[in-house]
Amino acid sequence: MSVFSHPEFDNHQHLSFFSDPETGLRAIVAVHNTNRGPALGGCRMYPYASDEEALRDVLRLSKGMTYKSALANLDLGGGKSVIIGDPRAHKSEALLEAMGRFLEQLGGLYIAAEDSGTSVADLQVMGRQTRNVAGVAARLGFDGQPSNGDPSPATAYGTFVGLKAAVAHKLGRSDLEGLTVAVQGIGNVGYRLARHLSEAGAKLWVHDVHGESVERAVDELGATAVSGDEILKLDVDVVAPCALGAVLNDDSIGQLQAKVVAGAANNQLALARHDEALVERGILYAPDFVINAGGIIDVCYERNGHDAATVREHVETIGDTLSEIFARSEHGRQPTGVIANRLAEERFMGVAR
Ligand code: NAD
Repeated sequence: MSVFSHPEFDNHQHLSFFSDPETGLRAIVAVHNTNRGPALGGCRMYPYASDEEALRDVLRLSKGMTYKSALANLDLGGGKSVIIGDPRAHKSEALLEAMGRFLEQLGGLYIAAEDSGTSVADLQVMGRQTRNVAGVAARLGFDGQPSNGDPSPATAYGTFVGLKAAVAHKLGRSDLEGLTVAVQGIGNVGYRLARHLSEAGAKLWVHDVHGESVERAVDELGATAVSGDEILKLDVDVVAPCALGAVLNDDSIGQLQAKVVAGAANNQLALARHDEALVERGILYAPDFVINAGGIIDVCYERNGHDAATVREHVETIGDTLSEIFARSEHGRQPTGVIANRLAEERFMGVAR
């Protein structure tokens, strides 16, 4: 298994491999860059088919966190950890505590948060052994409501702010009264985003594979339910993907009628070149790693202990960052994702601390 010549290796600053035979823990921590501060990122547990697959994931995801935190104007670097194993079969308190001890050895270089395969409760177990976990404390959320550490309200609000910035840029309107929006995925983020939109006067079309979630949006927000086949093809102003990745692909892009794509789902572009395909169709795409940063902003403030209004103001900077990306993208005739990456590099490279 090569590291320095690995295609995903991008001069990562630190890589640790942990093994604890007693608990079966096998984990990798990757710290991509700490120019802006300690590397914060999720701890993912997944039954990787090989060590190589786990390494690839942790290298790629840790780099993504450097870009995401820089674009979110946070004093954080980018890192990620992966635990190799099936969370349903291999997770135990002893394994999580062993992970906590390993995190402690890194001396705060990397701070773990929940990710797929791990929960807030799991991070709390790791937290018995280390302070270097985030998103675990009961506190007041960014909206002033009691929070159990769930970042979804902040993610949804940031996505709402970002969607408004995209609408202002593309459609030249600052109010959302009568704006038509299709929301794919009415989960923790999608439902809250739909509620913000509804309160702002938007008309909603929704789809979710869970019928109950759809019913709730129809009953409580007056949304119209449509099938999974239709949701991305509707003649609406905005499509907001809030379910799964790779929804912007060779198949879907040609069928989009919306002029704006702005949603919270991670990795919406199936391939990097789909960014360009959206430009060619005249569709404005809000890069997912910029618009869905509300959660990490919220988690970051948990460590700093600021009041809700400060967190909210910070989440609102997502709109300013996106407006800058849209303007530069139009001016330079380059896709928004390319511009976002460049802006992130400006923000994390050469920052001395
Ligand atoms: P969630 O699991 O609560 O909601 C996802 C919803 O999508 C569920 O209701 C699910 O039934 C639905 N869904 C799954 N497949 C679908 C399909 N094919 N068509 C329609 N609906 C489908 O997750 P979430 O926390 O709301 O996150 C949504 C997206 O946002 C994910 O891509 C996630 O990675 C991303 N995201 C979330 C956060 C956060 O703070 N929760 C932060 C950043 C990014």
